[in-house]
Amino acid sequence: MTYRKSQIDIAFNKIFKTMDIKELDIRKAGEGLRNKDFSSVELTKACFDRIKETDGKLKSFITLTQNVALQEAAKADERIQAGDSDMLLGIPASIKDVILTKNIITTAASNILKNYIPAEDATVIEKLDTAGMVMLGKVNCDAFAHGSSTENSDFFTSHNPWDLDRVPGGSSGGSASSVAGGQCFYSIGTDTGGSIRQPASFCGLTGLKPTYGRVSRYGIVSMTSSTDCPSIMAKTAADAAAVLQSIAGEDKKDSTTSSSPVDDYLGYMEKFDIKGLRIGIPKEYCIDGLNADIKKCVQDAATKLQELGAKVVEVSLPHTQYAVPTYYIITPSEVSSNLAKFDGIRFGYSAQSDPDTPVKDLMEVYMKSKGQGFGSEAKRRIMIGTYALSSGYYDAYYLKAQKVRALIKKDFDEAFGGVDMIIAPTAPSVAFKIGEHSDSPLEMYLGDIFLSAVSLSGLPAVSVPCGFVKPEDGKIAMPVGMQLIGKSFDEKTILSVANIYEKNSTWLSQKPAI
Ligand code: GLN
Repeated sequence: MTYRKSQIDIAFNKIFKTMDIKELDIRKAGEGLRNKDFSSVELTKACFDRIKETDGKLKSFITLTQNVALQEAAKADERIQAGDSDMLLGIPASIKDVILTKNIITTAASNILKNYIPAEDATVIEKLDTAGMVMLGKVNCDAFAHGSSTENSDFFTSHNPWDLDRVPGGSSGGSASSVAGGQCFYSIGTDTGGSIRQPASFCGLTGLKPTYGRVSRYGIVSMTSSTDCPSIMAKTAADAAAVLQSIAGEDKKDSTTSSSPVDDYLGYMEKFDIKGLRIGIPKEYCIDGLNADIKKCVQDAATKLQELGAKVVEVSLPHTQYAVPTYYIITPSEVSSNLAKFDGIRFGYSAQSDPDTPVKDLMEVYMKSKGQGFGSEAKRRIMIGTYALSSGYYDAYYLKAQKVRALIKKDFDEAFGGVDMIIAPTAPSVAFKIGEHSDSPLEMYLGDIFLSAVSLSGLPAVSVPCGFVKPEDGKIAMPVGMQLIGKSFDEKTILSVANIYEKNSTWLSQKPAI
């Protein structure tokens, strides 16, 4: 497609003089594209300029795919010209590097896969390509998605756009820094135990983890196969709904996807009436470690939803305290089995385990494989998992954890007998400083206190900005998120409530200074 010079000047003025791409979300950028205020190629170039300007500080991207992106943008422009009006058409996005992209290096932020070029796209990528996504590149995360800060990436740590001394959260930290830093409009990450919700909370974004089985896992580097969920990092609930619409649905290549029909999320959102909606606040979530200012943000948000017409009541999730220990038995167990495929035949050298090798010997082999194999967090999980699954310990750890998992799920089933959704904090603190917890895996794990139960139960949840809190050791107030937790496959209700809350609060109007 060619443009007259005058058209280019107009577009240039709109994008660079009067329109700041940081201020655009999917909806506004889509309107600009359909009104021909600017083209997708121009929008894409503006994103790469922004990446050039900011990525030295944010370190969101592992791989940039500029040539492919500009080709996709040109194709999108042709489709727009022909009258195609898909919401995602021509909109630039980033993809977490655990999601397979055909012919484009996919590292899982790990040394093991640092040269891996997939022969196939993940199903989510295929679906987004159909919708007209422009992929700018692959973003950083904790290696194999193990972590809460991106500090476990084998390559580098990403930075929080609000305060560069702090983590963006994790494991989908590059997804969060790229969207919050205004480098792109949305990102696809994964949430296995909180990895979309927590970074969304740390970076002032809307992060949706769909129900397990709503979105295909085909082509995602597996971590905990029983809780892995491809998930969405966006600027608003309406944007997250538009992305979910494109990626949800049954997939013959993933037998755990559900055949239940996909709702019309945006249509439901438009007509949604919050009056009479019953919202539960779990009494067990008022733990000692929860920052008092964060607690107040969540309580104020609940009051706001009540003023808007919802009915807020207390609910009980009695097994909450067991969620983190249960998750950290089940996750390493599945991780140790999933990572067994990296045995040095097809992929990088990893000093891989033989399930019969005693844990003590394994430890020695792993520690010697420094620098070329798994990073320390992956090694830790392989060892814990191998231990928890080994004969003699299986009943005491893995089996017991699965029983507790059933009780945790039952808590939600009972609570949902009386309420339509549940509201809770996303994280007990705002984004912490880089290095603050990196010597203590246990402290890092405890940050998952409000996240693990939802993952173990397979439920949908969205983290929504609900205020700002200035940390004691910080210079500026950092974003706080709350979780709206829904019944299975009821993404439409939590997204609609998130949308109403966002429209009736001012948090989204604040942007990081970068
Ligand atoms: N903090 C969790 C963990 O380290 C999150 C993982 C995830 O959701 N990918 O396991």
